[in-house]
Amino acid sequence: MTSPRIALLGMICESNRIARPAGQADFHSLYWLNGDALLQEARKQSSRIAPEVCGFVAAMDATGPWEPVPIVLAASHPAGPVERSVFEDFQKAVADGLRQAGPLDGVLIANHGAMVAENLHDPDGAIAAHVRALVGDKVRIVMTLDLHANLSDLMVDSTDLIVGYRTNPHVDMIERGEEAAFSLRRMLAGAADPKAVHVKLPLCPASVSLLTASGPYGAMIDYGQRRQAEAAGAILNVSVFGNFVFSDVPENGLSVVVTARSDRRAAEALAAEIADFGWTRRTEFVKPLTSLPDAVALAGEPEREPVIFSDAGDNPGGGGSGRTTEFLCALIDADVRDVLYGSFYDPDLANQACKAGPGATIDAVFNRETENAPWTRWDGTLTCKARVIAIHNGDVTGRLGLFQGRRMDLGPSAALAIGGIVVIVISDRTQTADPVFFEMFGLDIADARTVVVKSRGHFRAGFRPWFPPERVYEVDTGGLTSPVLERYDFKYLPRPSFPLDRDVGWASGHE
Ligand SMILES: [Zn+2]
Repeated sequence: MTSPRIALLGMICESNRIARPAGQADFHSLYWLNGDALLQEARKQSSRIAPEVCGFVAAMDATGPWEPVPIVLAASHPAGPVERSVFEDFQKAVADGLRQAGPLDGVLIANHGAMVAENLHDPDGAIAAHVRALVGDKVRIVMTLDLHANLSDLMVDSTDLIVGYRTNPHVDMIERGEEAAFSLRRMLAGAADPKAVHVKLPLCPASVSLLTASGPYGAMIDYGQRRQAEAAGAILNVSVFGNFVFSDVPENGLSVVVTARSDRRAAEALAAEIADFGWTRRTEFVKPLTSLPDAVALAGEPEREPVIFSDAGDNPGGGGSGRTTEFLCALIDADVRDVLYGSFYDPDLANQACKAGPGATIDAVFNRETENAPWTRWDGTLTCKARVIAIHNGDVTGRLGLFQGRRMDLGPSAALAIGGIVVIVISDRTQTADPVFFEMFGLDIADARTVVVKSRGHFRAGFRPWFPPERVYEVDTGGLTSPVLERYDFKYLPRPSFPLDRDVGWASGHE
């Protein structure tokens, strides 16, 4: 086989069960790329698409001849369950594309892994199974997934190799795409006949306890990497998936997937060993938050080092609305000064500010019109005088962390001064994980005493130069992504599971 033909496809959405459903517009406004348009975007310097696809294509390009067969790649910002018709449109595009593709040697499926469809708990698994049914057993299928995937047996059984991100904040997507390509090359060369084993724990932690630089989850990943290195080539990949608890699906739970180069027993033993390692540390997966009154008091303290607060209950990166007002109102009420607050998703307000222009004072109304729905419960209306400091068209390229090098379209955006607080307003619902959200207005993070971000954890990488971990506070605010899981009425998540249920037994049976 001199020039293997590899199909590229994927559907990326992280679904929060109680957030507003994701429709066609949610995908088309971010991207829905067919055929050559997908390949062109993957080879761009500053691409809009999932970096693992760019990494995969670049690594395939660098390692010999191949014939890319781009089918379809679609992504939405994290949102609610995907509308049935949109999911079916994607599956049809996959079927049509693969049928017209001619003979294939391999397929890359680049998904997130925590998608929910209106009619399905595990659409990611359904896509993998659909692809397998279409291409047959002889074609190698490699699937890349986000670290927050709710891993299912269907995904494992339908693919040859699953490669998950290993860092949270996510900064290794390009490397994981490259790894998927290198492993696929090995399989195509007959140097690997992968055997994957999946072990799921009754452990459903909130994302705040799934950081990888420290803590029990990082320890599990490090342990897996060390054991893989010690196996001297016998193990192809170790992925530990943290799960995305807000999907509320039967597939929730922390998952270990070990893929051996050829020996299933080696994979079984290591998967059980890593799961055991994590299970004995389960109580460490519970993390206290800073109360809102404590956070406001700290923000108002005159003599202290600069700090950054996460508005943890409203993370657009986990399906949050991006427009809850609880934290902002508390800061305004306390007349706290010297605060950079970003970013509030409100196209109406952003447009109002852009029309008025820099220097103008406007009667700002946050959440002028919100629909009456379960997902708007925390999106209170706030009316106040605001001065427009600066405006921007929102066409920016990320600089640090998750969005580094990635082109984003935040739409009409504005920086508003409300008393001593500067509030960034944007028109595309995106988590503030990068300093560019402030820098596009000429604001310098180095000058800030207090920064508040609507982001749960990815801001840690973007703001690391100014805020080491000891200056980061995760604040207990209401919204669609609060780490206080007891506040939600989970319907499908398996019970009992830790930490919602403290008394849960589990044993790998591994000696
Ligand atoms: Zn993630």
